[in-house]
Amino acid sequence: MTATERKEPLVRIYGRVASPEAYQLRDFLHRCDVPFEFIPLESGRQPVCEFPDGTRMERPSIRQVTEKLGWFANPSREEYDLAIYGAGPAGLSAAVYASADGLKTVLVERWAVGGQAASSSRIENYLGFPNGISGAELAERAREQACKFGAEILLARAGVRAELAAGKGVVYLEDGTKIVASASVCTTGVEYRRLGLPNEERLLGAGVYYGAGASEGPFTKGEDVYIVGGGNSAGQAAMHMAQFARRIFIVIRGDSLEETLSQYLVERIQAAPNVEVLTHTEVVALHGDKRLESITLADRRNGERREAGTRWLFVCIGGIPHTDWADAVGVVHDAAGYLVTGPDLSSAEKWRARWPLDRAPFYLETSVPGVFAAGDVRHGSVKRVASAVGEGAMAVAFVHRYLSRG
Ligand SMILES: Cc1cc2nc3c(=O)[nH]c(=O)nc-3n(C[C@H](O)[C@H](O)[C@H](O)COP(=O)(O)OP(=O)(O)OC[C@H]3O[C@@H](n4cnc5c(N)ncnc54)[C@H](O)[C@@H]3O)c2cc1C
Repeated sequence: MTATERKEPLVRIYGRVASPEAYQLRDFLHRCDVPFEFIPLESGRQPVCEFPDGTRMERPSIRQVTEKLGWFANPSREEYDLAIYGAGPAGLSAAVYASADGLKTVLVERWAVGGQAASSSRIENYLGFPNGISGAELAERAREQACKFGAEILLARAGVRAELAAGKGVVYLEDGTKIVASASVCTTGVEYRRLGLPNEERLLGAGVYYGAGASEGPFTKGEDVYIVGGGNSAGQAAMHMAQFARRIFIVIRGDSLEETLSQYLVERIQAAPNVEVLTHTEVVALHGDKRLESITLADRRNGERREAGTRWLFVCIGGIPHTDWADAVGVVHDAAGYLVTGPDLSSAEKWRARWPLDRAPFYLETSVPGVFAAGDVRHGSVKRVASAVGEGAMAVAFVHRYLSRG
């Protein structure tokens, strides 16, 4: 049972299951661990949200919902010791440690807390949770902990442009709000990789979903679900959906899951009667008008194609960092966009030349002094919740050194 099902609903959403706007609301509330009830409507009406005080909002934006929940905030200070961008596990961890250490800390998040981890229905390998924990619950606990120590969290706000000078970073949010801080940590993680197929954008949230779609499980009841990808996120999605859907098909290009999936997930998938792995296969076309109706699958060995009827396709094929802003401010990244830090920066001539100070960069420090990177966005990072949390905590230790020595 999810946290969302356990508690009294705080929000009622009326709408079509396949409406992208309704999906956005479900996904946001699920990630924030806010109990909600979704009441499916057949008609083409746009989603309506109802709150316990009787307020009804038609087609609300995420910002309006955060305002209504009392979560929307503007920065309370003109200047902070530390600004953290991205509230996934790395950013939340940095916020907890920094605020516990007494740093004036602000954490800016484009969407909901928890990052990729919040889309996981159950994280089973995070230390201290032998029975696993849902990503949304882990994120909500971390949010509470950061707030308890005094960190300010600005949700549904994205950092879009930076101006970095020695000793001070200025970052502008989408709406022009300015965040000024002595040091900053970039924990913006990765964005889901797309299939790159025609119709994909149009069917997003209307049958095509990125990540494990933890909020969507109950709606797949009795239907066929396709999951693309052979990594742990795909395996977790399969096991979550298998509780609801009629059949689950995991679509992979290779010939087995063994090389890409943790052993515990391989065993569960093999034991699940309604999960099938389609090897040497890829999705090559998406069909549907208002929502996904079918997909075309191709056998990579002989090119044979077949159409499969489905209203549910979850794409779990990893991610890429979105660090387009970095060039403009001289933050070095590798060819794939991951930010280069500490020893990696010093070891290669092409990167070392970009470091401006006599001292070596601190571990997790980027090529701009006082700007750190932690978690999945960092070159060479280990893509795990525990390592992101560890790096978030470590970054704060180096922020202290930077603030005391420059
Ligand atoms: C479905 C799924 C299941 C997983 N299961 C496991 C597991 O069981 N065990 C495990 O160890 N790992 C698991 N992982 C991997 C793990 O979740 C990631 O390694 C981890 O979340 C990385 O944390 P992060 O904080 O570096 O980045 P992310 O989690 O990617 O968080 C980055 C955050 O930054 C925000 N952001 C991006 N750009 C901006 C901007 N410009 N301004 C403000 N905010 C921004 C994003 O919205 C996001 O919230 C899973 C991943 C997925 C997708």
